[in-house]
Amino acid sequence: MNLAISNSAMQGFLIEDEVFASLVLPNAPLELLAEGFRWLEGPVWFADHQLLLFSDIPNDRIMRWTEAGVSTFRAPSHFSNGQTRDRQGRLITCSHQNRNVTRTEIDGATSVLADQFEGRKLNSPNDVVVKSDGSVWFTDPHYGINTDYEGGKQLAELPPCVYRLDPSGHLSIAADEFEGPNGLCFSPDESLLYITESGPQFAVEPHRVIRVFDVSADGTALGEGRDFHKISPGFADGIRCDEAGRIWSSAADGVHCIAPDGKLLGKILVPQTVSNLCFGGRNRSRLFICAGQRLFAITTNTRGCAAP
Ligand code: MG
Repeated sequence: MNLAISNSAMQGFLIEDEVFASLVLPNAPLELLAEGFRWLEGPVWFADHQLLLFSDIPNDRIMRWTEAGVSTFRAPSHFSNGQTRDRQGRLITCSHQNRNVTRTEIDGATSVLADQFEGRKLNSPNDVVVKSDGSVWFTDPHYGINTDYEGGKQLAELPPCVYRLDPSGHLSIAADEFEGPNGLCFSPDESLLYITESGPQFAVEPHRVIRVFDVSADGTALGEGRDFHKISPGFADGIRCDEAGRIWSSAADGVHCIAPDGKLLGKILVPQTVSNLCFGGRNRSRLFICAGQRLFAITTNTRGCAAP
């Protein structure tokens, strides 16, 4: 049921469940922070510097936003996409063009964490998350090497998969049932891993499903996957979890908030397709939203879970 779409005090939100009315603030509107990009992805918050990094993929650069404005953090970025931080605070970045996942060390040097599996090149790592045990989990669909726009046409050597990189450097397949694995995030207690299935890039009908997997007790593997929620309109790209275990997902009409039981609670309406998002700002209650050519933010009444 749509409770408040016509209520001007809550303009800009679609409330499907009254829980959502307590998660957004009627006097905290969607703010346009910056525009003039091509296609944004990969937002990651640095609380220690009060700054946001995000990828402008077709422009081959990583941007930096602070309250003082926007500047270039890295160019060329080798068509970087998803980003996160590890538990030491180091930047972890997926690159389409270089077909790898890198870590930016404290001194600014970059190291390659993964670029092949069993002797074959990774496709185009898309999004990444680090678990508290230091393992790095990332998706590897074909999207980034299907076109020149997002990293240059290259031949895929591996099927689309989700990988887990052990802290020792061993890479293993975590899930292989996806046609286009995309965003991913853990539940606050890391007992669940959510992964979005966007399907093949040029399909007339995109897949729209967020899948969820039980994480094994030792934290190294996934159990059987199951459908968690079907996004509409559009499809789910990047996702983040808040401190209560709710999923905040990108969609064609904005950001959707989904309860841990899979029920849609409400939407933050955004006038452009949303590709990715992350919590940040003071207290992790500000949601940064990558939407096509523009970067938005909105302050919520919840907080992102402690992991980046
Ligand atoms: Mg993505």
